Amino acid sequence: MSKNIVIVGAGVAGVNAATKLIDNNFNGKITIIDMGKNPYERPYEDVMTGFLGAGGWSDGKLTYHTAIGGQLSKYTGEDKAMELMDQVITNFKRFHPKPEEVQCSNPIAEPDFIKPYFGLRLFPVWHVGTDYLHEIGKNWYDFLINNNVEFLWETKVTDINFDESIIRADSENSQTIRSYDKLIFGVGKSGIDFGKQLAEKYSLPTEPKSVQIGVRFEAPQKHFQKLIDISYDFKLYRKFEDEGVSLRSFCTNNNAAYVAVEQTYGDHSYNGHAKKDEAFRNDMTNFGILMEINGIEKPFDWSRNVVQSVNKGGTGLYYSPSRKPSTTSEGIDVSTIQINRKEFNIIRSHFKGYFKYIDDFISDMKIVFPTLSHDWGIYIPEVKYLSPEPLVNYNNLSLTKYENVHFVGDALSARGITVSGAQGIYVAEDLIK
Ligand SMILES: Cc1cc2nc3c(=O)[nH]c(=O)nc-3n(C[C@H](O)[C@H](O)[C@H](O)COP(=O)(O)OP(=O)(O)OC[C@H]3O[C@@H](n4cnc5c(N)ncnc54)[C@H](O)[C@@H]3O)c2cc1C
Repeated sequence: MSKNIVIVGAGVAGVNAATKLIDNNFNGKITIIDMGKNPYERPYEDVMTGFLGAGGWSDGKLTYHTAIGGQLSKYTGEDKAMELMDQVITNFKRFHPKPEEVQCSNPIAEPDFIKPYFGLRLFPVWHVGTDYLHEIGKNWYDFLINNNVEFLWETKVTDINFDESIIRADSENSQTIRSYDKLIFGVGKSGIDFGKQLAEKYSLPTEPKSVQIGVRFEAPQKHFQKLIDISYDFKLYRKFEDEGVSLRSFCTNNNAAYVAVEQTYGDHSYNGHAKKDEAFRNDMTNFGILMEINGIEKPFDWSRNVVQSVNKGGTGLYYSPSRKPSTTSEGIDVSTIQINRKEFNIIRSHFKGYFKYIDDFISDMKIVFPTLSHDWGIYIPEVKYLSPEPLVNYNNLSLTKYENVHFVGDALSARGITVSGAQGIYVAEDLIK
């Protein structure tokens, strides 16, 4: 068994990994290095860094399904994935000051009116409660400290020598050099650039990625109300297996729902958000209609090219058969240029034959939600640039090139708390074998 394990990132993945090691009487040394603060000192404005990472100040929703939250069952198989997620949920309950308040919402089966046209992804969610995350963090931290885990806070890892198993980290007053037998790399979204940098430096092989592109759809909420009543953040989906394409509605916002402009690599694309304050209620709904397209050789370049070709005058485009673009929650016009039907047909062609899937999606929504008719608009484009995912051995998430280095959480392929924690536990289970 390895004696000296260093975990970079005290996020959800790293903390769950350390906990699993301790629960299995690991008798070596565990060091966790994080650029943020311990849970007693971490201020609310540190959204991404510190004990429990981005999960520490999150919405505290623990999704409980292998189709949500990033890749897990790809490595572990379905049954093992569910078992690992159970362990994460148990950990959150274990350090919760009122575990009985952790409740699971499990939506009812897909309604008949959706069935012939779309799949509706319904999945259970455990609600930890944002208000309790702070207390959970402290309890969990105390447990780790009491079990001799060493923490280096406000210490940023700036370089890792994979060949010699040495880490360099900087804090305000000092530089730390550490060696490791095994390294767990769980830097989350806040460390994504560092991960990329290492991947390039060591020419780490990566998994092929898909293109994720589409539009942001917006309409008055009343047309979707019968579905919103069943599932607030509904996820409609459909799959064309033979063509390597699947579509899903993404990130649904209701009640006080606003389309947001995102600027990436100098171009505009769209997203959405919802305000909680009733004062902002506009009774609108917006969601992405995102296509996942597999088999495109250079997915990043391909997506960049499409996004550039559908930007005009420095911003994105809006098409509607009847409506005008909306305003932001601050009452400012959403940055976009409205195009007519003829221009829209040209813009469609920039999606290189794939826009037909979005056309069909909208046509079928008009059947399922008949009052929708022409009362909708789309902001073009919405895009997700997926960062390269290092190629790992599926049995323990170690790099294929450096087998004593394990990537976990959002730094690998996760997108949520449960999957990140589960990946951490999966690695720890391998290390204690
Ligand atoms: C506002 C918000 C709300 C969210 N709500 C939810 C939700 O309700 N449900 C859900 O499932 N997911 C949610 N998420 C996503 C979820 O928080 C993440 O998927 C999850 O925390 C990822 O876990 P991780 O361990 O991979 O990384 P993180 O939890 O992000 O932890 C990474 C840690 O690494 C540290 N780090 C980074 N780089 C370095 C470096 N170079 N040196 C030292 N330390 C470093 C950071 O300080 C951080 O503490 C939310 C995210 C945000 C931002």
